Amino acid sequence: MADAAAAAPIVVPQRQLFIDGNWRPPRKGAHIPVINPATEQIIGEIPGATSEDVNDAVKAAKKAFLHNKGQHWSRATGEARGKYLRAIADKVTERKLWLAELETLDCGKPIDEAVWDMEDVAACFEYYAGLAEKLDEIQYAPVELPLQNYKSNILKEPIGVVALITPWNYPLLMATWKVAPALAAGCAVILKPSELASVTCLELASIIQEVGIPPGIFNVITGFGPAAGAPLAAHEDVDKVAFTGSTKTGRSIMEMAARITKPVSLELGGKSPLIVFDDADIDTAVEWAMFGAFWTNGQICAATSRLLLQENIAEKFLKKLADWSASIKIGNPLEKGCRLGPVVSESQYTKILKYISTAQAEGASLLCGGKRPDHLKKGYFVGATVLSDVKPWMQIWKEEVFGPVLAVSTFKTEEEALHLANDSPYGLAGAVISKDADRCKRVSEGLQAGIVWINCSQPTFCQTPWGGVKRSGFGRELGEWGLENYLSVKQLTRYISNEPFGWYPPISKL
Ligand code: NAD
Repeated sequence: MADAAAAAPIVVPQRQLFIDGNWRPPRKGAHIPVINPATEQIIGEIPGATSEDVNDAVKAAKKAFLHNKGQHWSRATGEARGKYLRAIADKVTERKLWLAELETLDCGKPIDEAVWDMEDVAACFEYYAGLAEKLDEIQYAPVELPLQNYKSNILKEPIGVVALITPWNYPLLMATWKVAPALAAGCAVILKPSELASVTCLELASIIQEVGIPPGIFNVITGFGPAAGAPLAAHEDVDKVAFTGSTKTGRSIMEMAARITKPVSLELGGKSPLIVFDDADIDTAVEWAMFGAFWTNGQICAATSRLLLQENIAEKFLKKLADWSASIKIGNPLEKGCRLGPVVSESQYTKILKYISTAQAEGASLLCGGKRPDHLKKGYFVGATVLSDVKPWMQIWKEEVFGPVLAVSTFKTEEEALHLANDSPYGLAGAVISKDADRCKRVSEGLQAGIVWINCSQPTFCQTPWGGVKRSGFGRELGEWGLENYLSVKQLTRYISNEPFGWYPPISKL
């Protein structure tokens, strides 16, 4: 990979809203600045949509979904839709480095991670192309019935017009986790990315326009949550909302959807535990602990941001963890080898520093990080932060920080570790590190979470289900479960006997 930092400056394309296959300015003419979090400079702008634009997009999506009785999209074969998805994957692969650079400029993630994201985006479109094709094979699947006079078959149909509302930490990847299965299923899509990072989602619209997906099937509305996201979620003609973001916003979306009995799937926040037992290899476990808390600049919903160490290894472990974390390369995220970039925005930066100072005031010990490193004069950088002596009642143990901050506590027994791990309203992920396979199995079963990593933290594959329990939301993305999110199941039951039904006595016998 070329060193992006050394190349010519990347220009953020000036884009409009993408509605009904066309680029269109927002009706009220509002725009939102794009700020590079590494330099704090304005590097572009995105349109600020309002309810008027939402209405236009929903109208276009509904028309496209029903157009030609759905023959060109919603009732076309999965194979036909799969071809478009593969074409999108090819274009993402062609533009991988450029898209990655835009992502880094927009949200601050290190370029090596952004490239990784773009590879995952392409792989996800490819994967759902395959599932779209498989959908054709399972249509009209028979259901075994206890009565011989009937036959039942199952038809899987796209849910309809779907609103996909996404966050800024993996701007294009989180959008793809929804867009790819929704298109594979045959839905018409309105994507509302985060106002803090929409640039690559607008580039996805450009790719989709190039591959020729019918107008209105894919629309992008950029803008603030209350101005654009809320009217979209509440719209009568939106058949489903799939949301990834904070628990607070998820709750308000669910309330809006409840008013018109609209289905939602919610991927929300977390405060996931990583439990390390004393038989673990220390170096290996320290690296997973760091990766679980610091990659994506710590802004990961499934970050294992609560570390539970077995008491007898804590001292040795923490020394290594603090030294290694302090050595992480932090700086220009466009520079190859950078492993920690700035957090996404000034408000996020301020919020994270406040969490750290409150933790210290409550009695936690700061082992490293806690501020912008001295060599960086600008940018929303927070050094990799490790806080030890954390108690379960402290704010830093209970609340999601969404920054490079790892809170550490200790335990004596397996039972105590599980109790501490599960003592949270969240239940997105959890991880355990131990050489004892039986113990790993017991702990995996005992963790209240939708995702459990054993002897690692964070690996994510588009083939496996993603989602949480408790206040981390419900519904699953990725894998075949991700496709089911956008399908409605219709039963077709036929009466096949030549005999009359015979419940009411025939009129001739009355
Ligand atoms: P957020 O809730 O502030 O925003 C998410 C999206 O919702 C954005 O597009 C935003 O514009 C929109 N929005 C905001 N208010 C809205 C409203 N009233 N109505 C409709 N839409 C509205 O979240 P964020 O700050 O962008 O992302 C961080 C959060 O996302 C964290 O809590 C993180 O844990 C969570 N997250 C979860 C997952 C997961 O898979 N579970 C993945 C990534 C991020």
